[in-house]
Amino acid sequence: MTAAQDPQAALRAAHDAYEEFAQRGLDLDITRGKPAPEQLDLSAELLTAVTGDDVHSPSGVDARNYGGAEGLRELRELFAPLLGVPADQLLAQGNSSLTLMRDALTFALLFGTPAGGAPWVEGRRAMLCPVPGYDRHFGLAEALGFELISIPMDDEGPDLEAVRQAVADPAVKAMWTVPLYSNPTGVSMSERRARDLLALETAAPDFTILWDNAYGLHHLREPHAQPLDALGLAAEAGRPDRVWEFASTSKITFAGSGVAFFASSPANVDWFLEHTAAGSIGPDKLNQLRHLRFFGDPEAVRAHMERQAALIEPKFAAVERALADGLSEGSAASWTRPHGGYFITLRVAPGTADRVVKLASEAGVKLTPAGATHPYGLDPEDAYIRIAPTMPSLDDVRAAAEGLVACVRLAELEAAAA
Ligand code: PLP
Repeated sequence: MTAAQDPQAALRAAHDAYEEFAQRGLDLDITRGKPAPEQLDLSAELLTAVTGDDVHSPSGVDARNYGGAEGLRELRELFAPLLGVPADQLLAQGNSSLTLMRDALTFALLFGTPAGGAPWVEGRRAMLCPVPGYDRHFGLAEALGFELISIPMDDEGPDLEAVRQAVADPAVKAMWTVPLYSNPTGVSMSERRARDLLALETAAPDFTILWDNAYGLHHLREPHAQPLDALGLAAEAGRPDRVWEFASTSKITFAGSGVAFFASSPANVDWFLEHTAAGSIGPDKLNQLRHLRFFGDPEAVRAHMERQAALIEPKFAAVERALADGLSEGSAASWTRPHGGYFITLRVAPGTADRVVKLASEAGVKLTPAGATHPYGLDPEDAYIRIAPTMPSLDDVRAAAEGLVACVRLAELEAAAA
């Protein structure tokens, strides 16, 4: 009898393979989507792009001083075509788009939105959460008192029928979405799905889509995802205030020291600025000026993103190769092959994701906790694992992926034997 026919022998072999991997004494971390040092080096000139004797923007703004709440005009004009939004409806702000999401939600909770309706804090409130999704989105909404409602994803984006049913409840005020190369599946929304979501009849008049365009410029491979004109489509559908769009250069230049953007209808932009003004006398324009000088024009940003892709695509390929070599046969596992973004989603045999993460951790490979891809950290299937291959070196990514394969195999055979 061969190992394939003898479950006990297969389990022993998987155990041996895992032990062999564990003995390598690795200490690797593929938990978070951070840029690798070589990616950060691509933006090294940012650090010297503004010097003491050259602190004015092209239109003469002294970047050292207060003011200019909407951000430097020339930087907004540079990023507007990249994000597919009018410069007049685009704000350049601080260092984090997640912070802008928190701010916008907080303003809606306290003051309501231009779309009408009471401050959201006054009643029950729920947030639609496409799954698998981004743990920080879910954590933020939970921290602000939203009920989290899971919405399945298909290969065109959030499931339209599930959204349609959910928004019949007036407590459903908002929805997350990462339209291009979503975190963590890499799925990009189709234009058809975007149109439908933006036009949908909802019980809450102020239902808002948080359109987190974090990976809109982060192509890895052809064919590239097509950009979506969310603001234009919302306006066409007669619902101009439905979308708040966010983006940042966190994974273009320096993570945590980039520039974050907010774009929306004119009414929402005024609303956002009005409430921001209560707590800010202007954003960090020196950092904005650095970014303006470093890039100069939109084409330079695109060229920079090609250099980023050249560094990280081989890491994605290495993970995919290891998974294909180790799991194509005799395993229930499947995984995404994204064309952009920062993540691969691995779907393992239901009921084993948590065990895989534990096995990997014991063997020296840290993975994002199982469940992180779902609201409240609870994946009802216990099947999804997010892989973030950008940060470690190529050799380390390869080693981590090979080890992961051993963990997936062992967990699956253990479960089958139980
Ligand atoms: N949105 C998504 C989908 C992300 O994956 C991340 C970071 O991983 C962020 C936002 C954070 O962006 P920022 O650094 O601009 O706060």
